Amino acid sequence: EADGRVFNFAAGPATLPAKVVKQAQEELFNWRNSGMSVMEMSHRGKEFTSIIQKAEKDFRELLKVPDNYEVLFMQGGASTLFSCIPLNLCGPEDVGDYIVTGSWSDKAFKEAKKYCKPNLVWSGKSEKYTRLPAASEYKLTPGAKFVHICANETIQGVEFKDYPEVDGDTVLVADVSSNFCSKPIDVSKFGIIYGGVQKNIGPAGVAIAIVRKDLLGKAQEQTPVMLDFKTHADNNSLYNTPPCFTIYVCGLVFEDLLAQGGLEAVEKRNIEKAQLLYDAIDGSNGFYKCPVEKSVRSCMNVPFTMGTPELEAAFLKEAASQGMVQLKGHRSVGGVRASIYNAMPKAGVEKLVSLMKSFQAKNSS
Ligand code: PLP
Repeated sequence: EADGRVFNFAAGPATLPAKVVKQAQEELFNWRNSGMSVMEMSHRGKEFTSIIQKAEKDFRELLKVPDNYEVLFMQGGASTLFSCIPLNLCGPEDVGDYIVTGSWSDKAFKEAKKYCKPNLVWSGKSEKYTRLPAASEYKLTPGAKFVHICANETIQGVEFKDYPEVDGDTVLVADVSSNFCSKPIDVSKFGIIYGGVQKNIGPAGVAIAIVRKDLLGKAQEQTPVMLDFKTHADNNSLYNTPPCFTIYVCGLVFEDLLAQGGLEAVEKRNIEKAQLLYDAIDGSNGFYKCPVEKSVRSCMNVPFTMGTPELEAAFLKEAASQGMVQLKGHRSVGGVRASIYNAMPKAGVEKLVSLMKSFQAKNSS
């Protein structure tokens, strides 16, 4: 990239739009003539109030969040939300259904065992999480309080393209940490949508939960006050001191995404970028392989392998020498993983594809 910056393919924390980082830098010392940086402001002062209100307003506009949903800025990352879901939606004896399609939904399922009776309705583990189930392959539990999915599995690279149908009072819950704001989503289909921000949206430190209002106020009695969605809803996400600087940078990213034409436009670019990479993999005569079933391949995290670990290591080294970093696959699956979130420019993907072609030419016998 320009100005000495690399193309950062990390799974998270991930690259931010260069112009946002620059704007934050310009405003760092003295935010808009307030005489302070955002890091030094009172979270209850008029300056930060305007920052968090604008961030929420822009986020609502981007995702077209209906009025009967709260938008909550929370701490503890998406991992903390794994506990919040059963604590807020279930009694200890109630059932929540989990569709486990990769490492993250598996973690969510395991955490829920502490707070309710989670039911594993489908797992892709025996197939190494390379596909998603058809609706005919699982049976949801009648009377389950919720059905939990991970909309995009960051490690395995499987992404839901449409979502399970749920009946009656059961609500659909999605962890969207790794495809948040990467495409439009029909919020009204869900009870709760949540995710950490450190991939598509901003610096680590905040998880955003979009919670349907009728689900508030029913948390289990022992729920810590910080894990009760109602606490944050009643206090406009200012019950305690929030990570002000993170929320501020998220707000800059929301402004940028709106200026880019909103999530329809963002999705179009993301599909183009992902297509470039998958075409390069599929057109390599098997030199590069992506294990994920084509119809559910992620537009955000593109895992692929080569013939041997030695080849992969040589590829990663060559990539790094050309300013393309953090391409190593997760330690649990190996290989290469290119995370190409919103802020990854198309030029970064083109450069990676160009390396893939030259590397293959050099290493094919
Ligand atoms: N869910 C998904 C899909 C993720 O990719 C991650 C982190 O990488 C998490 C949850 C955990 O997020 P956090 O680190 O914010 O707790």
